[in-house]
Amino acid sequence: MLTTRYPYFFDAAHAPLEERAQAFRGAGGIRERVAALGRAELLVRRDTRSLAVIRRQLAYSSPLDDLAFVIQELGCTPLERAGALGDVVAAARAGDRVLAFALTEPGAGSDVRAIATVATEHAGEWRLTGTKHFISNAPDCDGAVVFARLDDQIGCFFVDRPTTSSQAVAAHSIGRIELQDTPATLVAAKGLGLAFATLERCRPTVGAAAVGLAARALDETRAHVRARVQFGAPLAALPVVRLRVAEMAVELETATLAMLHACWKRDAASPTERTGTSSAVGKIVATEAAQRIIDAAVQLHGGAGVEESSVVQQLYRAVRPLRIYEGATDVLLSVVADDILGPA
Ligand SMILES: Cc1cc2nc3c(=O)[nH]c(=O)nc-3n(C[C@H](O)[C@H](O)[C@H](O)COP(=O)(O)OP(=O)(O)OC[C@H]3O[C@@H](n4cnc5c(N)ncnc54)[C@H](O)[C@@H]3O)c2cc1C
Repeated sequence: MLTTRYPYFFDAAHAPLEERAQAFRGAGGIRERVAALGRAELLVRRDTRSLAVIRRQLAYSSPLDDLAFVIQELGCTPLERAGALGDVVAAARAGDRVLAFALTEPGAGSDVRAIATVATEHAGEWRLTGTKHFISNAPDCDGAVVFARLDDQIGCFFVDRPTTSSQAVAAHSIGRIELQDTPATLVAAKGLGLAFATLERCRPTVGAAAVGLAARALDETRAHVRARVQFGAPLAALPVVRLRVAEMAVELETATLAMLHACWKRDAASPTERTGTSSAVGKIVATEAAQRIIDAAVQLHGGAGVEESSVVQQLYRAVRPLRIYEGATDVLLSVVADDILGPA
């Protein structure tokens, strides 16, 4: 548990929350999981360290539970920061509505300023036209926070029950949102700031999910190398295997500390203070380390590690997108470079 191993990062409220997240087991699709998270009161708005302890536990036991959890957070945060649509937020935090956060488009991935979805106003009513893709939980959502071009800036809108279609990405609920003169509610005209603030809050918690996946990989590996006998003894007796497991543990410790520092820094900052660099560092260190740890876990499982049913194979697929979404590692490195060197 993070709260017992690293108590100096936490307040009294975090330990019981982590225990509740540890006990949570979702089932079924995204809608059922969101409803169950709502009933368990895990979707209540909380600080960044709370998101981290919840995500680490959910990702450890089920990446799908973690996905259900975090997309509700991504959907609610811009509405809450703008003080808009309180009824939608209340329903989402109770687990009664599934939200999506729709920034990415076919022509606007890392370069979010290239958004081409347009907003137009007719007789006081807003309408959106464009396509969003790679939107987590889109096929299951009944409301989406959508970013669209409005005059010379990018506005934040809410679309009730959008038209969606699925995309095939392993171990993920994801899809497109098609907007064709679709009615929308304006949340904020200066929407890009809301999007960036939301991502800055959630980004270090992607690191927490990565740490949860990596911790599970280490536990699976410990059990496997103790049980699997080759050359007349458990794999755990081989010096090279012991070294690999030790390296995995060291990487996990480094990743966890970098992630926790980024979450703590976000909580210690004022709501308007930017913590972009530490959020980026927390995500980069944790997700890159998790990828290496899980790769080592697959290696130490041998053929069993690539069997469809094996846990480490599922972790291998689950960890990969974390280095791409909410800021690809390469893009976030330029945030760190700008901080050290000034803008290019
Ligand atoms: C599983 C999954 C879930 C997602 N969920 C959501 C969601 O819920 N909502 C949403 O809005 N989006 C979501 N996305 C989209 C995600 O945010 C984008 O995939 C991401 O921003 C990268 O955009 P892109 O895929 O268009 O890649 P591109 O922008 O084409 O970039 C491709 C690669 O080029 C490199 N690169 C690009 N720009 C730079 C740069 N400036 N400096 C250095 N290297 C660079 C990086 O290596 C990058 O990975 C999701 C994506 C995935 C895979």
